[in-house]
Amino acid sequence: MLEGKTAIVTGASRGIGRAIALELASRGAAVVINYNGSEGKAREVEKQIRENGGSVSVYQCDVADYGQCGKFIQDVIKEYGRLDILVNNAGITRDGLLMKMSEEDFDKVIDTNLKGAFNTIRFASRQMLKQKSGRIINMSSVSGVAGNAGQANYAASKAGLIGLTKAAARELASRGVTVNAIAPGFIETDMTDVLSEQVKEASVAQIPLGRFGRPEHVAAAAAFLASEEAGYITGQVLHVDGGMVM
Ligand code: NAP
Repeated sequence: MLEGKTAIVTGASRGIGRAIALELASRGAAVVINYNGSEGKAREVEKQIRENGGSVSVYQCDVADYGQCGKFIQDVIKEYGRLDILVNNAGITRDGLLMKMSEEDFDKVIDTNLKGAFNTIRFASRQMLKQKSGRIINMSSVSGVAGNAGQANYAASKAGLIGLTKAAARELASRGVTVNAIAPGFIETDMTDVLSEQVKEASVAQIPLGRFGRPEHVAAAAAFLASEEAGYITGQVLHVDGGMVM
């Protein structure tokens, strides 16, 4: 269980991040919910955790902004006196074919999905090294492993996250900090809700288990990687994708 631990989940106002925040709280961690624009939704998650007797706080921060991340992480450490678990879940898509993709759409996705994780790890790892323990979990994607037409920016950001995960795992291992990635396949959230029925059907056809996953499936994997039991696992990419990419 995670009693006495402090966990930050970025992008926890909705979808997978929300499910991870609820799961970590149910296992006893004090959870910091980060959001960027959806304050109302973040407050609903906060309320749910509080009603279940959990400890929780809410912080607005655009993870793409280095300065904001520094202040955010330092404020959390000031509030709780420690930081044990960091889940870099915040992410966006700006899909489009390469030839039509704007520079802005490329940069925005890289800045949020990849640089966002660097920004938080940059500040959180110092505290974890001091504590000689910590768990960092980065939300990659099957797109980052196998590529996906129409997602050059997103796939590059998610592949980059795998490289970041492995480099950080090697740097931080000697002081008891593990760093792993999760590669979800298609999970039912706002992000996949916008896909057309045709795309959804074609996607399901590629999934051996024959259905989209739920945020709770990813949350269970994140809670495992955050646990004491996962202490000998680092630098790995755990697929939660119904067998889509093997
Ligand atoms: P979602 O429902 O669209 O939620 C995205 C979350 O990220 C929201 O809480 C959003 O907060 C937050 N966010 C976005 N930009 C942010 C920023 N600059 N700073 C801080 N927070 C920010 O997405 P999801 O489907 O749950 O996806 C969560 C993660 O899993 C993403 O990294 C995504 O790439 C990855 N993933 C998802 C799937 C899938 O099928 N759904 C598959 C593979 C990987 P606000 O609303 O407050 O802005």
